[in-house]
Amino acid sequence: MERMSDSEIRRVREAMAAAFKDLRSIHRFIARANFMCCGGCASSAFATQAEKSRKPYAVYWTRQDDANLRDGRTFYLGYGAHDRGDIGERTVFAGKLVTKYLTLHGIRWEWDGKAESRIGVLGMEPQPEPAKPKAAWEAMLDSVAGRLP
Ligand SMILES: [Zn+2]
Repeated sequence: MERMSDSEIRRVREAMAAAFKDLRSIHRFIARANFMCCGGCASSAFATQAEKSRKPYAVYWTRQDDANLRDGRTFYLGYGAHDRGDIGERTVFAGKLVTKYLTLHGIRWEWDGKAESRIGVLGMEPQPEPAKPKAAWEAMLDSVAGRLP
């Protein structure tokens, strides 16, 4: 798989921050970048935080995953729902919300829609084409106009 360039890594970090901000403010997620050493520590930390803060959902990536992002590789998001109701169904719902906001912020991702699978962040969607350079005849008109008194 092709690695992300440094500029794409920067854009992924900015877009992830924006997506996490939306998830926090709109859907009351606990959303943390570069959080804890590994998935095991992250999920137990979240269980405690969710209990205290009464936030329903969580999404994060760990320091291990951040090392992959620094190298421009696919990295994986953990996500989940706090332990109330049908936990499997609510975890899938959390995953759907996360991927929705990744898409809104132009992030490419992969996920099979299963509660037990993490969400892979692949990079950014291609950006829209930059504005077209002026056509030759437009440039010529400009240069003629510049020479008029
Ligand atoms: Zn750990």
